[in-house]
Amino acid sequence: MTRLKHIKKRYVTTILVGPQERQGIASIAQNKVAGNIKDENTAGFDQGLLFPSNSDAIGAFAYVLDGVKHLIPEPDYVCLNFDAAYIHWKHLIKARIHLIAWLKMEPKVELPHNQLYGYFGTAMLYINTLFTSLEAAMNRCIPKGYEHRTEKQGKVTTLNKEGIQRYMDMNDKLKIIKSVTKKDFALREGKKMALIQKLKDVRDLTTHPKDEERGIVKYPLLYTALLDFDFDNTIIAAMDFINYYSEKSLIEECTCGHTENDYDSAHALG
Ligand SMILES: [Zn+2]
Repeated sequence: MTRLKHIKKRYVTTILVGPQERQGIASIAQNKVAGNIKDENTAGFDQGLLFPSNSDAIGAFAYVLDGVKHLIPEPDYVCLNFDAAYIHWKHLIKARIHLIAWLKMEPKVELPHNQLYGYFGTAMLYINTLFTSLEAAMNRCIPKGYEHRTEKQGKVTTLNKEGIQRYMDMNDKLKIIKSVTKKDFALREGKKMALIQKLKDVRDLTTHPKDEERGIVKYPLLYTALLDFDFDNTIIAAMDFINYYSEKSLIEECTCGHTENDYDSAHALG
C-alpha cells in the first residue's frame, strides 16, 4: 500500500526573522510583502504580518468578524488543495472498504446510501482538489508579464498570464511551462505523467458532466472511472510533479512524530 504522511503546511509568504530582529522589524518586513501595506493599527489595513512563536513571519490578509479586523495567515494554495486531497484520500480508503463490503453482501436487501454517497462524493473531492493543486502549481510557473502569441490564418492572438491561467487547457499550459522552465516532467516521468493526464480526464468528466445517454443510467462511465481510478499512485505522481516544477520541494512529508493515521491530532492547538 502506498504510504504518505501528512504534508508540511506552508504559507504563501514566510519571512525569516531572527530573534534580535523581531522587535520593530514589522514595518521593514511589511514592505517586502507588498508595497501597499498600511499600519496594522490603522483602520484601513488589508494585509500584514503575523509573528508566531517560531521565527518565521507569515503574510496574512485582513478579515472582518463582527466589526473587528483580524489577520488570517494565507495558506499556500497548492499545499492547501494537496492537503485536502490527502484528507479525502485517507477517507476514501475506508469508504472503499465499506462499498466493497456491500457489493459482496448476499442477499442485498437495503440500499447502501451512505456507502455510495460517501465513496463517490469523497472520490470527486479528491479528484478536484488534487487537480486544483496541480493547476495552481502550473500557473506559478508562468512568469509575470509573459505573453503567448499564436497565429491562426493570419490573425495574431496574444494571451497574457491572466489569459493563459484562465483560458488555457492543461496540455497547452504544459507546453508553455516546458519552454519557460526548460523542464519536461512528461519526458522524465512518463508513467507519472500518464496518471496526471488521467486525473485531468476524470476531473473534466466530473466537473463538466455530460449525459452519456445509456438507457436508464446517466453517467456509468463517470462512476466506473471513479471506481477504477488509481488514487494511491496519482497523489504521489502529483506530489512529484509539483516539486519538480517548484523552486524548493513544496509538498513535503511532515517530520513531526505523528503517523499518517493520526492526521487529526497532529498540529492541533493546545
Ligand atoms: Zn506533522
